[in-house]
Amino acid sequence: MPDLISIYEKLFSVFGHQNWWPGETEDEIAIGAILTQNTAWKNVEKAIQNLKQANLCSFSAIFSAEEERIKKLISPAGFFNSKAQYLKNFASWLHHKGGFSRLKEYSCRKLRSELLSIKGIGEETADSILLYVLSCPFFVVDAYTRRLVHRHEITSSNRYGEIQKIFMENIPLDIELYKNYHALIVKLGKTYCKRNPRCDVCPLREFL
Ligand code: SF4
Repeated sequence: MPDLISIYEKLFSVFGHQNWWPGETEDEIAIGAILTQNTAWKNVEKAIQNLKQANLCSFSAIFSAEEERIKKLISPAGFFNSKAQYLKNFASWLHHKGGFSRLKEYSCRKLRSELLSIKGIGEETADSILLYVLSCPFFVVDAYTRRLVHRHEITSSNRYGEIQKIFMENIPLDIELYKNYHALIVKLGKTYCKRNPRCDVCPLREFL
């Protein structure tokens, strides 16, 4: 198996620090993590812009808003019926918890388990919120990560937990490293490790 730290160092040397996750507030980051399910980020950006213009880019505002209104505003992100409900579900849970600042009183494991019990919050979404909003050390696994580990024969497993475990057991437990590594894998996937890979010019070709 290629050394995951060497891969990180190579990606960092090429792409640099990514300053992820894109978003100005904790709410915006979590809203983005929910909306990005099954859609491209550019569509999420349009939906977030609509929410901002309507003063609804916060969970306290979403909690009080009519679901029909949210559906219209987030429609560029696709699956808007489900996603409006997911935003409402999360807003309701967060409201009852007392907001993001109160969540820091809970253990990361407890928070992960609670997040996964909210309808519409899967492992990737939960870990994105845990890592980028709550600074909990969970490595985020997305489609780009799967592509990388499969193409480099790091594992043949497609199971979220197994892929996550490989990263968490083979790189230091470091929140900033986790954040930037995931962001770099996304950058790699958008630039070189596309559906049709550009291995001949990719910085990771030496790891094949
Ligand atoms: S494009 Fe090729 S060399 Fe680059 S990460 Fe993907 S499989 Fe590896």
